[in-house]
Amino acid sequence: MDKILFTPGPLTTSSAVKQKMMRDLGSRDTEFMEIIKDVLNGILKVSNLSKNDGWEAILMQGSGTFGIEAVVSSVIPSNGKLLIVSNGAYGKNMSKMCLIHHINHLELSFSENQIPNINRIIEILENDKSFTHLAVVHCETTTGILNPIKEIGNIAHNFGLEFIVDAMSSFGGIPINFDDCKIDYLISSSNKCIESVPGFSFIITKKELLLKNQANARTFSLDIFDQWKRMEKTGQFRFTPPIHSILAFHQALIELEQEGGVSFRAKRYSNNHNQLINGMKKIGFDTYIAPEYQSYIITTFLYPNIHLFDFQIMYKYLSERNIIIYPGKLTEVNTFRIGTIGKITYNDINKLLESIESYCNRLR
Ligand SMILES: *Cc1c(COP(=O)(O)O)cnc(C)c1O
Repeated sequence: MDKILFTPGPLTTSSAVKQKMMRDLGSRDTEFMEIIKDVLNGILKVSNLSKNDGWEAILMQGSGTFGIEAVVSSVIPSNGKLLIVSNGAYGKNMSKMCLIHHINHLELSFSENQIPNINRIIEILENDKSFTHLAVVHCETTTGILNPIKEIGNIAHNFGLEFIVDAMSSFGGIPINFDDCKIDYLISSSNKCIESVPGFSFIITKKELLLKNQANARTFSLDIFDQWKRMEKTGQFRFTPPIHSILAFHQALIELEQEGGVSFRAKRYSNNHNQLINGMKKIGFDTYIAPEYQSYIITTFLYPNIHLFDFQIMYKYLSERNIIIYPGKLTEVNTFRIGTIGKITYNDINKLLESIESYCNRLR
């Protein structure tokens, strides 16, 4: 029995997406190479980009974090410096990567329920001219807060920095305009808003930047330039590709297009989210992030004021009904999270709300 996943990924996928994986296919076979080509073009098309305009998509084996580390460890020159604008766990992760790879960096942290202060970023960049790159997370999945990548990207651009965006949990679900946001590198993965299964991450960047930064890689397997060059030259991966995951992803891209593209998917996710928070409010749950900063991707709820409420017990109660929610990730407040992305609709959210209500009614 499939579980309905109200998580930030892996997500609930369609049965057609799952079925595409039920076969064997050679990794160097022409049929597979055609599928890869379709997938690369399809990824660019999600944001209305194309190779003809100088954009490139790169596939990288592994989960989303591998894609982020591939970019962070590949593009910053040895005399470069990265400013990480952070308000959650995924921002912090980039800082850890920099420490491991000995990359000069500064993590500018803000509270987890606040969007970054633009003036603070400008002040830092005015006082230190050695920064070459700026990185930020679009939707900080830690809380569900949505960061203003357009404002931050334009600051990076004005200071002549390359702009790196972790759009893991937003790409495909929230429309992103690369030109407006001045994005130089965007990273996302197969198992988030494209609604496919785990297996790889992907990077969208400009050919011009790939050529310019190609000598900066600090690892062999996560070298985005070598990965890109080999694919350009041979149409193949350097190392064993996640074949089944790519087959599923190919189908997921078709389904995204059938849904009407990102704007229609955004509408469905946003309806899911509104239905969720309205229903949760009626049961007695408040949200952690203020509505003006809250994304419709994932929502953090505070533990309610209900005697004997126990998240672990509620989690188990829901799981027995094939509903999976997500624990919180904050240290100071007791929270849990519910994602509204993936192949889920009105009826699924209804089932979730009814089950949470029946758990709470038992306590009452
Ligand atoms: C999911 C996610 C990642 C990557 O997580 P993995 O577990 O490596 O797939 C990175 N950043 C954000 C914002 C995410 O939501």
